[in-house]
Amino acid sequence: MFDVVALGELLIDFTPYGTSANGYPLFERNPGGAPANVLTTLAKLGADVAFIGKVGDDQFGKFLKNCLQKNRIDTSGLKTSPDVSTTLAFVHLTDDGDRSFSFYRNPGADMMLMSEDVPVDIIKSSRIFHFGSISLTDEPSRSATLNALKLAKENQLIISYDPNLRPPLWKSIKEAEGEIKRGLVYADVLKISWEELVFITKEKDLDIGTKILEDLGISLIFVTLGAAGTYYRYQGKTGKLHTYDVKVVDTTGAGDAFLGGILYKLRGLSLEDLKTLTIAEVEDLVDFGNAVGALTTTKKGATPAVPSIEEVVYCIKNISKIEP
Ligand code: ATP
Repeated sequence: MFDVVALGELLIDFTPYGTSANGYPLFERNPGGAPANVLTTLAKLGADVAFIGKVGDDQFGKFLKNCLQKNRIDTSGLKTSPDVSTTLAFVHLTDDGDRSFSFYRNPGADMMLMSEDVPVDIIKSSRIFHFGSISLTDEPSRSATLNALKLAKENQLIISYDPNLRPPLWKSIKEAEGEIKRGLVYADVLKISWEELVFITKEKDLDIGTKILEDLGISLIFVTLGAAGTYYRYQGKTGKLHTYDVKVVDTTGAGDAFLGGILYKLRGLSLEDLKTLTIAEVEDLVDFGNAVGALTTTKKGATPAVPSIEEVVYCIKNISKIEP
């Protein structure tokens, strides 16, 4: 039995790493992909987790599989394609400190996941199914994701969704909007940023935007707000919790870590249990997620700083919160 199974992209993130002796930019080879980051957080906290996805039969694919296994993530649902290469992404820092991405995915192995690659037994023996929006960008991984979602729904798994917006991966913004919205109807738990909320609902107001999402049947909604903490909506009630005042080095992957923390706390609950939480329990979840997210910002990279359960407990007891 797995606490959480996640389906989606697994790729290499080449991140800037200074310059060579010749003066040329260097890149560091990092394991990447939001669903895998969420699982890495869960596994580090102590949950049993499994990954479903596809890599190429190449050195990058072997490296990624090895990283998952080292992090105690079950890889029996990770397929290897003999025909397509592992997906690569290069991260560039712009002059104003923002990040931009170049993707090498024409096609990439992650988008070649087929419906028949999805291990029915793994989904049936899991409590929570987590997915993102990158596997919805292209066929055949779009159909594979939707079929896995139907199976998860039929088997009463809690479905968690994090629709990351990466415009270069879509043929058009209109297509991105339609497909990202298609995923929403399956979700019981949703984590989005404010920018994604505005993109999906066309509403800048948190209360109005999240009400639109709640009306689609989503039980638990989190809008992560960086250093400003997290806004939540649950059964018509809303609130905002401050996050922890840590020494920030790199915020990459904070959202994935936040969601990993939330799913860690939800593991073991049934779909019915999810509908009968008290607001104190919801706030306890958010506070835990905030601590995991904040601690993850204290080192460079998406997953190297993912905390242990002891570090999260220490943070909640001893570190003060960022006041506005
Ligand atoms: P991602 O880039 O991973 O998709 P995101 O935009 O979804 O990130 P953020 O809002 O950046 O997620 O961060 C998630 C959580 O991590 C926040 O709700 C907060 O609790 C914590 N966090 C993020 N940035 C900071 C910060 N600068 N200081 C303290 N905590 C932070």
